[in-house]
Amino acid sequence: MTHISNWMDDELTALRDTVARFVEAEMVPQDALWRAQHHVGREIWRQMGELGFLCLDVPAEYGGVGGDFRHEAVVYEELSRRGISGFGNGVHSMCSHYVLNHGTEAQKHRWLPRLASGELIGAIAMTEPSGGSDLKGIRTRAAREGGVYRINGSKIFITNGSLASLLMLVVKTAPEAHKGSMSLIMVETEALAGYRVGRVLDKMGMHAQDTAELFFDDVRVPVDCLLGDAEGLGMHQLMADLPYERLVVAVGGVASMEGGLEATLTYVKERKAFGRPLADFQNTKFKLAELASLTRIARVFVDDCIDKLLKGTLDGETAAMAKWWVTDTQQQVLDECVQLHGGYGYMTEYLICRLFADSRIQRIYGGTNEIMKEIISRSL
Ligand SMILES: Cc1cc2nc3c(=O)[nH]c(=O)nc-3n(C[C@H](O)[C@H](O)[C@H](O)COP(=O)(O)OP(=O)(O)OC[C@H]3O[C@@H](n4cnc5c(N)ncnc54)[C@H](O)[C@@H]3O)c2cc1C
Repeated sequence: MTHISNWMDDELTALRDTVARFVEAEMVPQDALWRAQHHVGREIWRQMGELGFLCLDVPAEYGGVGGDFRHEAVVYEELSRRGISGFGNGVHSMCSHYVLNHGTEAQKHRWLPRLASGELIGAIAMTEPSGGSDLKGIRTRAAREGGVYRINGSKIFITNGSLASLLMLVVKTAPEAHKGSMSLIMVETEALAGYRVGRVLDKMGMHAQDTAELFFDDVRVPVDCLLGDAEGLGMHQLMADLPYERLVVAVGGVASMEGGLEATLTYVKERKAFGRPLADFQNTKFKLAELASLTRIARVFVDDCIDKLLKGTLDGETAAMAKWWVTDTQQQVLDECVQLHGGYGYMTEYLICRLFADSRIQRIYGGTNEIMKEIISRSL
């Protein structure tokens, strides 16, 4: 009962097949190593770049593939359904989009081709130890001194943190906690004096992901690294990209449900108890019917959001609805799938175990699900 999204076409089907083959051949076999070492290494970024699997929705004139969000979605889906959560291409794409949407022409030419090739690995550095939801409370400060910004502060929980070579860094360029006090600065980290990656954090799931702390101690970057052409635009720039970012989270969420459901269907048909396959028990059938229904509803909603994003009509509230509902439902579905696996569902060698553990963070990052409800409620 495979559901094919209405936005798929022959070209995207061919892309999906190519991506799926690559992920199966080159990424799935390395996932256990990546999880053990807590990072995916730089080589896979270069490979993905060479194959044209990075920055698929960035125009070709800036080194991208020249596709649109559907091309990106295909890659997220093929990774997410197989539990490849260490390769932070969602954040990499978000980083690229800040440059694409808010950068000057010179900045686009400077960073986008290298992001598309995988030479640069992107990260988004917003959250600080003092708080993530309340972004206006950040303390990292960039003080202009002639031709440079001098940056002091720290960030925590940064996806791709240890491997990242280009940060979209959220800073205060004015000390007051009002909208115009924040700016975005693109920071190339290679051999940057005063910049230090702290711990790669030990997490509940997503063990292949190098989520890290970052420290800035009198870091100096040229003033032309300020994103856009004026200070104080940070909050506005961040808000503009939120629907895109929340949809990226939701797309990964629904694909992970689909992958988990497929793995569970296979499992319950093979595993026997009391002399018959688990699939024959009425409880199993009803549970699977419920999970398939929830997954389909999530898929149709996400497909509609993709359609709206392509048309330029995806508003912040609808994206927030997709983010909270899909990720809450993702966890509910994957939890039931673990249950149907019995004890094997708790073993990390089983895909369903990794999908479930990795899914917990989906309700927290990208704006917590409580913040999503705040956003929605304001529009009602
Ligand atoms: C694995 C991982 C990867 C991450 N990747 C990144 C990244 O790449 N870049 C980055 O910048 N950050 C990243 N984060 C940080 C993440 O976005 C934050 O953890 C998240 O925004 C929540 O912030 P916080 O942890 O400070 O929690 P808090 O903001 O302290 O929230 C704690 C609780 O209070 C609730 N709460 C807060 N404010 C309100 C309110 N107004 N109304 C109701 N409830 C509220 C929250 O919903 C939550 O339940 C990542 C985190 C993790 C764990």
